[in-house]
Amino acid sequence: MSEPSTLPIVQHYIDGQTVVSASGRTAPVFDPALGEQTKRVALANGAEIDAAVAAAKTAFPAWRDTSITKRQQVLFRFRELLNERKGELAEILTAEHGKVLSDALGEITRGLEVVELATGFPHLIKGEYSEQVSTGVDVYSTKQPLGVVGIISPFNFPAMVPMWFFPIAIAVGNTVVLKPSEKDPSAANWLAELFTEAGLPSGVFNVLHGDKEAVDGLLEHPDVRSISFVGSTPIAKYIYETASRNGKRVQALGGAKNHMLVLPDADLDLVADSAINAGFGSAGERCMAISVVVAVEPVADELVEKIRQRMSQLTVGDGRRSCDMGPLITEAHRDKVAGYIDLAITDGADVVVDGRGIDVDGASEGFWLGPTLIDKVPLDSRVYTEEIFGPVLSVVRVHSYEDGVALINNGAFGNGTAIFTNDGGAARRFQNEIEVGMIGINVPIPVPVAYYSFGGFKDSIFGDSKAYGLQGFHFFTREKAITARWLDPSHGGINLGFPQN
Ligand code: NAD
Repeated sequence: MSEPSTLPIVQHYIDGQTVVSASGRTAPVFDPALGEQTKRVALANGAEIDAAVAAAKTAFPAWRDTSITKRQQVLFRFRELLNERKGELAEILTAEHGKVLSDALGEITRGLEVVELATGFPHLIKGEYSEQVSTGVDVYSTKQPLGVVGIISPFNFPAMVPMWFFPIAIAVGNTVVLKPSEKDPSAANWLAELFTEAGLPSGVFNVLHGDKEAVDGLLEHPDVRSISFVGSTPIAKYIYETASRNGKRVQALGGAKNHMLVLPDADLDLVADSAINAGFGSAGERCMAISVVVAVEPVADELVEKIRQRMSQLTVGDGRRSCDMGPLITEAHRDKVAGYIDLAITDGADVVVDGRGIDVDGASEGFWLGPTLIDKVPLDSRVYTEEIFGPVLSVVRVHSYEDGVALINNGAFGNGTAIFTNDGGAARRFQNEIEVGMIGINVPIPVPVAYYSFGGFKDSIFGDSKAYGLQGFHFFTREKAITARWLDPSHGGINLGFPQN
């Protein structure tokens, strides 16, 4: 392994070029499957935050005034380039995040969906027009960009989550400063450089690397008009409160603890397959992962056995090779997740499959933890109440549909959920009664397509605007209502009364 001080540094991308940081501060970037530090990432100082925002501010007027047709052409070109070269990006994701290559490609494909939606932006930001609201008076509205918008993203989807926001923000005429996760920072530079290659003018899309200092700099900067955040709940709440206090428009998506309710009439083979896919895909590091299976008796024993059997077939290893599941993002996170297995034992749960010490197709130093299944998790255990964000699937047993719904609705989070049943009436009742923002019916990971919006309820979101879909276009524009009268000789003279129609 090389000395950390000689490793390459991932630098900022400001005003269409790589900018070497002068802050003197860096954070390590690991290859999680090798367990080895492979890069460093620059951590911005105040001057660099100002430079990124200033570049975006300078680029804004010209980009806002660039014709709709030209903006669309740049987006189409970006879409084509990304589609052609997504394999390169997938390799970057696997090398820094650890997810298997096929999953990395899946993430990019879901991000591409939003790029494709954004190419249709002219239709989605049209205003309205009302003729003759009063004699000779017309009223109409236009939707305009906000200016410089800030995006702060988490480690678990280093390409897709930024793509939930920047294609729409840029399409409608904003300029962007993206602060990606410092754990897997390179995808952001790759995307910004590709957009430049597609014809995006310098300064429209800037990448600022950093930690809390960079985030706080954006939250406090008077020239940043809005903040789009995705990450853990405590930070989402902090972002929402701080940015709101500073007068910014904010959308802040937080953590999750997603439950899958299994009714006794469900197809248990489909349920077991779905629980495996949604529980262990991307090593459980997905905000839409299923982390709790709620089995309505009497099916729990049979279901646990079906899940256990399938788990024995899963292969864990280096995501560049053919396997089902990669490592966790860092050693510290792996140890934290493994700590919940100890806790489960202390709290009296039944650890059916223990992922510690598994055989792995990869380097011994990798940040490994195998798929873990914990049955009969007590509801007051932190294993049940906290977001684990790893390959740990809990099972909780209830005696009725009503008990299952009450359990889910009592939880602090409300991101995603799923029901598995063949009873259409029960499913329909569930979609009505459940207090969760994204619901799957016999679908375990109900991430909405790009033309719907993504977001949960309760501690899974702060602010009233979800990501992408129509809400995305609403978030990144502000409306002007214009009341107009053209030379009308019968203007009526002086009248100090409030205007009426
Ligand atoms: P995180 O909250 O630690 O970090 C997210 C971003 O905030 C990063 O860019 C990070 O640099 C920054 N940050 C971290 N600590 C900060 C602080 N004290 N002050 C200011 N900024 C700070 O989240 P993570 O570990 O990168 O990502 C995993 C979390 O994200 C999980 O909780 C997961 O559920 C959540 N997530 C939610 C969604 C969703 O749509 N609701 C999607 C993906 C991930």
